[in-house]
Amino acid sequence: MTTYTTQMDAARKGIVTPQIKTVAEKEHMPVEKMIELVAEGKVAICANKHHTCLNPEGVGSMLRTKINVNLGVSRDCKDYDIEMQKVMKAVDLGAEAIMDLSSHGNTQPFRQKLTHECPAMIGTVPVYDSVIHYQRDLSELTAHDFIDVIRLHAEDGVDFVTLHCGITRKTIEQIKKHKRKMNIVSRGGSLVFAWMSMTGEENPFYEYFDEILDICEEHDVTISLGDACRPGCLADATDVCQIEELVRLGELTKRAWAHNVQVMVEGPGHVPLDQVAANMKVQQTICMGAPFYVLGPLVTDIAPGYDHITAAIGGAVAAMNGAAFLCYVTPAEHLALPNVEDVKQGIIASKIAAHAADIAKGIPHARDIDDKMADARRVLDWDAQFDCALDPETAKAIRDDRLPEDDHSDTCSMCGKFCAVRSMNKALAGEHIDIL
Ligand code: SF4
Repeated sequence: MTTYTTQMDAARKGIVTPQIKTVAEKEHMPVEKMIELVAEGKVAICANKHHTCLNPEGVGSMLRTKINVNLGVSRDCKDYDIEMQKVMKAVDLGAEAIMDLSSHGNTQPFRQKLTHECPAMIGTVPVYDSVIHYQRDLSELTAHDFIDVIRLHAEDGVDFVTLHCGITRKTIEQIKKHKRKMNIVSRGGSLVFAWMSMTGEENPFYEYFDEILDICEEHDVTISLGDACRPGCLADATDVCQIEELVRLGELTKRAWAHNVQVMVEGPGHVPLDQVAANMKVQQTICMGAPFYVLGPLVTDIAPGYDHITAAIGGAVAAMNGAAFLCYVTPAEHLALPNVEDVKQGIIASKIAAHAADIAKGIPHARDIDDKMADARRVLDWDAQFDCALDPETAKAIRDDRLPEDDHSDTCSMCGKFCAVRSMNKALAGEHIDIL
C-alpha cells in the first residue's frame, strides 16, 4: 500500500485521501483538479492526523472563501466554559476554523478538547503558548523551547500553526530605520522581536525552520506563515517592512513545499481600500499562489466599536482579488476580549464579506442561496426568507417586533400597504390593489 505523510504528499503521489475527496465534493470540483491544486500548494487542506473529528475544508483562492474565528482565554477573561460556548456558536454560524489564542493558565486541556470535539480546523500560535507553558520569562526561553511547543501542539492535533518565521535580525534594524507609526502590532511578531532583542539571537522559527518542517510533515500540520510586520495603521500599509517580510515568506513557502508541508501566508492588516487588490496580487506572485490568509484588512483606523464592518469591507475586496481565508474581526477589536455577542457580530460580518466575494468570483453555486432568497421575497414567504438568511434569529426577531398593524401575512411595516412587491404581484395577476 502506498503511504503518505501530508495531504500534499498524498496529492503528489496521486492518492485520493478521504479529506481530498470530501473537499472536492464540497467545492463541486473534480477530484483530479483538487489533487492537482493540493499538490501545487494552491489549496491547503489543514488536517492534522490526530484531529479525527475534523470535517475537512480546503483553503485556496479558487474555492469558497473560508473564515476563521479567534478565541481563547486571557488573564482577564479566563472562563474556558464561556470560550467553549463561543466555539460552538462559531461552528453553528459557519466558521470553518477556530484559532485558540489562549494566553493564560494550563492551555493544553482546552486545546485537546477542541481537537477532540470540534469539527472545524484548529489553529494556534505556539509562541504565545511558550511563555505560558514554561512559566518563565520570555528572555529565559531557548530556541528549542519554542520548537518543543510546536511539537506539543502538533501532537495535540492542531491543524495549522501561525509561525512568525519571516522577521529576522535585519527586521530589527528596518523597524528602527523606517520609523513606522505603529511599529509591530502582531502579538506573536512582537514577542519574537522582543526575544531577539533581549537574547541577541536570530529568530528561532527562521533559524530552525527545517526542524519545524520535520515536525509539521510528521503530523501534517499546515504552517500559516505569520506576518509580524503587518501594518497596524493605514500610514504603515505596503511599506518596506511589510514587503520585505513577504519576500522572505515566499522563500519559506518554497522550502516548506519541498518538504511536502502545506502553507498559508498571512497578510495585512490595516490597508487603504485602494491598496487591497494590489496587496493580493503581490502576495500571489511572490508566494506562488499559496493560499492568502488576511487579517481584515481594515480599511480605516477610526472605527473602534465597528471594526467588524471596516474588516468586512476590506475582506470582501481582498477575497474577490485572491485572498482565500478571512480572519474575522469583532466590534471589540482594539478594545477588549470579545464576548459571545461580539463573536457573533464578527462572524456574520466575515461571512457576508466571504459570500459576497464568492459570488463576484463566480464560485460554483455560490449564488444559489441568493436566488432562493429572491424567490422567497417575491412571494412574500417570510419563513422561506428566514431559512435563507445568514442569521435567521435576528431577521425573525426584527420582523416580529414590528409587524404591520392590519395584515401580518404579507408586507412588512417598512412600507405597509405601499409594499412594492405586493402591488406588483397583484397588478401582474390582474387583481385590485387596495392601498387605503
Ligand atoms: S413592505 Fe416594503 S420593505 Fe417590506 S417587503 Fe414590501 S416592499 Fe419590501
